[in-house]
Amino acid sequence: MDDIAHNIERIQQRIDRAAQRANRDPKDVRLVAVSKTVDVDRIRQAISAGITILGENYVQEAKKKIELVGMDVHWHMVGHLQSNKARHAVKLFHMIHSLDSISLAQELNRRAKAAGRTVKVLVQVNLSDEYTKSGVSPDDVEKFLIPLIPLAHVRVRGLMCMPTFFNEPERVRPFFKALRELRDRLNKIKLPGIELKELSMGMSGDFEVAIEEGATLVRVGTAIFGSRS
Ligand SMILES: *Cc1c(COP(=O)(O)O)cnc(C)c1O
Repeated sequence: MDDIAHNIERIQQRIDRAAQRANRDPKDVRLVAVSKTVDVDRIRQAISAGITILGENYVQEAKKKIELVGMDVHWHMVGHLQSNKARHAVKLFHMIHSLDSISLAQELNRRAKAAGRTVKVLVQVNLSDEYTKSGVSPDDVEKFLIPLIPLAHVRVRGLMCMPTFFNEPERVRPFFKALRELRDRLNKIKLPGIELKELSMGMSGDFEVAIEEGATLVRVGTAIFGSRS
């Protein structure tokens, strides 16, 4: 078995065990293989080993790979998305994890409508405002969701976070917990047409803790493909 297949098998076992520890069904946790900088051959190996969702950070890079690999697998945009890339993004990605501005949502809506599609999005929440400047502050998410309600071609499915200290799992646990609590609180408000099911949280260093705290999508790069140069 090659490295990538071996890594995926190990990670899948760790996912299953983390879910079981939290009395969750492992099937409710989906593995997103983050393939930024990874070449198409290795992406194909990952797909052969059972990967069904790939995560990319840059639209141009993703576009080239998707042309070669195809869309039988699902492609998720996990990196920051600029509005001027929305036209490509709505055609390439099954889900965008990084919605962080109303103007981006409006542009995605306009482009998805023109392409005859709807696009699934997660709102990126900035819980720690240290690692990245992107993301909506937790106090503002409810207000942020209101203007998204009438956008018929943008479906808000959940929340995403990328806290600091991702190599110290116990230090990030409170952030993962906070994201879950925020999601549950927002769902209680019952905004029309908005059901926040997904929690995209956890990376190579901390995905097990994220699963224990409720992650439904874990974004794992290095632990699958090895370190990026
Ligand atoms: C690169 C990246 C990941 C994967 O990180 P690893 O530590 O390599 O698992 C996850 N999410 C986002 C947004 C990323 O940019």
